[in-house]
Amino acid sequence: MKKRALVCGAGGFIGGHLVNRLKEEGYWVMGVDLKENEYNNNNADEFQLGDLRDPRFCDTVLKAGFNEVYQLAADMGGAGYIFTGDHDANVMHNSALCNLNVLDASKQHGVERIFYSSSACIYPEYNQLDPDNPKCSEESAYPAAPDSEYGWEKLFSERLYLSYARNYGMTVRVARFHNIFGPQGTWTGGREKAPAAMCRKVAETPEGGHIEVWGDGKQTRSFLYIDECVEGVRRLMQSDFTGPVNIGSEEMISINDFAKMVIGVSGKNLNIKNIPGPTGVRGRNSDNALMLEKLNWKPEWSLKKGVELTYKWIAQQVKENAPVLSK
Ligand code: NAD
Repeated sequence: MKKRALVCGAGGFIGGHLVNRLKEEGYWVMGVDLKENEYNNNNADEFQLGDLRDPRFCDTVLKAGFNEVYQLAADMGGAGYIFTGDHDANVMHNSALCNLNVLDASKQHGVERIFYSSSACIYPEYNQLDPDNPKCSEESAYPAAPDSEYGWEKLFSERLYLSYARNYGMTVRVARFHNIFGPQGTWTGGREKAPAAMCRKVAETPEGGHIEVWGDGKQTRSFLYIDECVEGVRRLMQSDFTGPVNIGSEEMISINDFAKMVIGVSGKNLNIKNIPGPTGVRGRNSDNALMLEKLNWKPEWSLKKGVELTYKWIAQQVKENAPVLSK
């Protein structure tokens, strides 16, 4: 009999790709989200539109019976959404309710294994002040001092999932994603993250123009291509390691150099203008030592390869949507 998986947040970026991967592996998959996948990346066997903040809805969904649950639903976005402070109450309230409800309903209905997607945003700001030497090894999460309410909620929910494992014997897997990017992710509208925003700006800007980059551009990050993220999720889920474990890339780059990479991939001649804007911590990079030790694997794709695929997709979106955006 086919294994049954539930993907919560299947209307979103990572969820949509994860559904495809599980289908390829022969699972029967149900997707759940507030919305349909924006880019038609929905190949689930069944898709339920609904609100995971509602415990009755969660109960109805989980009653169907699943071997595995992937809890990706969250109220989230890029720096323009998370770091302005304007959405803090929603981010904490909405995401915490999804996590509480999905986990408890999974316990009630005997789910065998549950995956929770935490974030690099849980790491303390005091370890990420030097852009050249950020520290994001898993044990460095405490004493806790995330720089956003989004990070605090993720930390709370990590602990929630681990508590259910401890007290109720549930099999839980927790990953901390570091800046996942790729095609079929949000690229406009205010919730897009830096890689997609950069690709959009470059695609929209005519030859000889300039793109705006938030901050002085010296802040550093690493970015992981979506296929590698999904590979990491599957490997963690199949392993006997609970986590939390980083799922990210160790190829750190400054934001200005990243912008230059995107410009290079586009083949255009553009300049960069650094302007004030929300930036988050000064430096962040994944530390994959624990991942390598526990999963015997680490991502291998170069950043450039992922940027080429992502830019191509976003440039096409910009082209197709040009009349709509200019209205
Ligand atoms: P996304 O915003 O594309 O997907 C999240 C989905 O959750 C959305 O489709 C949204 O509609 C859905 N959702 C939100 N509230 C809901 C509710 N009440 N009921 C039902 N569905 C609801 O985000 P993503 O990039 O695919 O991220 C997936 C998960 O990974 C999130 O938990 C996110 O915090 C985490 N994460 C992502 C990244 C990244 O770089 N993309 C980094 C760290 C952590």
